[in-house]
Amino acid sequence: MTAPQPLLESRRVGAWTVHAIQAGGQRLDGGAMFGVVPKPLWERRIPADERNRIQLGMRCLLVEHDSGLVLVDTGAGAKETEKFHAIYGIENAGRPGPTALEDGIRAAGHRPEDVSLVISTHLHFDHAGGNTARAPDGRVRPAFPRARYVVQAGEYAFATTPNERIAASYFPHNFVPLREAGVLDLVEGEREIVAGVRLLPTPGHVPHHQSVLLSSAGETACFLGDLVPTASHLPLPWIMGYDVEPLVTLETKRRLLERAHAEGWLVIFEHDAVHAWGRVEHDGKAYGLA
Ligand SMILES: [Zn+2]
Repeated sequence: MTAPQPLLESRRVGAWTVHAIQAGGQRLDGGAMFGVVPKPLWERRIPADERNRIQLGMRCLLVEHDSGLVLVDTGAGAKETEKFHAIYGIENAGRPGPTALEDGIRAAGHRPEDVSLVISTHLHFDHAGGNTARAPDGRVRPAFPRARYVVQAGEYAFATTPNERIAASYFPHNFVPLREAGVLDLVEGEREIVAGVRLLPTPGHVPHHQSVLLSSAGETACFLGDLVPTASHLPLPWIMGYDVEPLVTLETKRRLLERAHAEGWLVIFEHDAVHAWGRVEHDGKAYGLA
């Protein structure tokens, strides 16, 4: 198998150009990805391999905002071992690299040092691993040298006081060096972080998960993060087994998808191997991709 393609998909959202960068592939247990949904139902949407894993993406969003480049999530980065990448089926090496994310930023006509703001939906390794990079001297530093980084304060606290259930998802070298470098801003609740870019708390996957709402010239787009990781997760009860508060996810989805449907938002999927974005429809029974 190879990492999902294409590397780069671009479009307009209002006055802005936005780029969906497929920062790599990832293969996770299909049962864990769909929680209580039985396999005969989910495998019709995404087939499983011989180890019961399904192909996922790790899509990041690059927004050409008037105030500078805004990047939402950073994939898995390049600090982990080959063994780790094999366990999670991560294929995110760049050509020339070091990561597919960096290749995608360059394919969009930019450089990592042009990024001025990095938003993390949350700090799990497949969303925040590319926040930092290991320098030739072995030290871990911010991967975007001129950027400020932002995450919910509650998520930073959650990530830095792990327990046995969540510890495997949070690696301090993905976020502690940002704090030490003084480039990480911790915010609380809903906040317009730059004009038209709103951090929207969407709890459930983790207690302080956030999605990102883009509003420009009458158009609205929402980077959902792990609230709705793929288009197959649009039906309300299709919730990941990884979520720490699945019933909170359910109510967050109910609230958010109602708005997305009523207001015609473009929704953007982080882990979908095929669909970068689309509009939400409701056929009278369940939400789906229009
Ligand atoms: Zn996550």
